[in-house]
Amino acid sequence: MPAAALAALIRERQPCVVLTGAGVSTESGIPDFRSDSGIWADVDPFEVASIQAFRRNPERVWSFYRERIHLLREAEPNAAHQALAELERRGLVAALVTQNIDTLHSRAGSRDVIEVHGSIRSAVCLQCLSTEAADDVLAQLEDSPTPICIHCGDVLKPGVTLFGELLPPGAIERATDLPRPAGSVLFVGSSLEVWPVPGCRSRPAHSPSSTAARLLSTTARCSRSTQAPAQHSPPRSKPSADGARVDCTRCLAECYD
Ligand SMILES: [Zn+2]
Repeated sequence: MPAAALAALIRERQPCVVLTGAGVSTESGIPDFRSDSGIWADVDPFEVASIQAFRRNPERVWSFYRERIHLLREAEPNAAHQALAELERRGLVAALVTQNIDTLHSRAGSRDVIEVHGSIRSAVCLQCLSTEAADDVLAQLEDSPTPICIHCGDVLKPGVTLFGELLPPGAIERATDLPRPAGSVLFVGSSLEVWPVPGCRSRPAHSPSSTAARLLSTTARCSRSTQAPAQHSPPRSKPSADGARVDCTRCLAECYD
């Protein structure tokens, strides 16, 4: 789909809801998960990013997330994040649902951001449910392999949704309800593999006036999958690439140029 046609769709089919995946952040230097050079090519997600691993060996999980948090905090929003924020400022994007934990949409200026996999902003105590800001967590990790809850002394968990955990209920309800009345749903940088994105993809079909468009970043690929697991689950196999690459930033910028 040419950039101009997509821009016209976004302008005409309002309100527009955006769903983003890891591909939107790869140009900020953040590797995705499932490509050949992605994070899960070298690391087993069951060992470092599952709730079972956290309960079994929190030190190992925190060793992985300490590096992730440092990397993500050093990254800067790229032109695609900026363009999406600008579209929201101009009233062309109603809300943005993201699977990313990097907070780059908020840092770019997007206001209504639903982070369905949590974020690196904080860590949470599973015992008393209090949260601790990332700055304090990282300070603790300078001297200890795991951060501790200052209220009850339990080990804190990263504020992201680990594999095997249920997705945050408030966020997931908004993420699945938002596309329902939308005039258009724009997928950016998502393989459409990870729930809730496949579930959201089917929503606009209920409305005859709605349109779903898929916009991949220059480094993301499209893959074919419709399976929606009940929980946040690790990938079982790598998706096969079958989609074209589109210049994400040019498409988005054309919407308001
Ligand atoms: Zn606690």
